[in-house]
Amino acid sequence: MSERAMAYDPGNIFARILRGEIPCKKAFESEHALAFHDINPQAPVHILVIPKGAYVSLDDFSAKASAAEIVDFVRAVGEVARAAGVAQTGYRTLANHGQDAHQDVAHFHVHIFGGRRLGRMITKA
Ligand code: 5GP
Repeated sequence: MSERAMAYDPGNIFARILRGEIPCKKAFESEHALAFHDINPQAPVHILVIPKGAYVSLDDFSAKASAAEIVDFVRAVGEVARAAGVAQTGYRTLANHGQDAHQDVAHFHVHIFGGRRLGRMITKA
């Protein structure tokens, strides 16, 4: 994360979910990761995977997380997709970082989308 990057705000909505202050529809939990269904699903399967540690985005996580956290997180993404039944048919992962990507929640998360044909990549500007 650069010097100018956003500091982690422990009041963000996913931090509150991790602390149990806000409910979620849990899909998976491991030592370092939690997965839950998106509140506003964009596909039949739309699950968010988050690290339990306080990381703002992929930029922050990739720079600061321990090897154990990174391994656990990546394995969690695969596990969640397989458990959701989309590993055979296909799925898309997406991680928004910062304003150009329209990141709304400043706690690192990977979206897993699946259950329908998702089209190609992103729309052109
Ligand atoms: P972003 O734009 O930051 O990549 O995506 C944030 C995602 O979090 C959105 O898809 C939004 O629907 C989801 N979200 C926001 N608040 C909540 C919440 O309280 N619970 C759940 N399960 N998802 C949320």
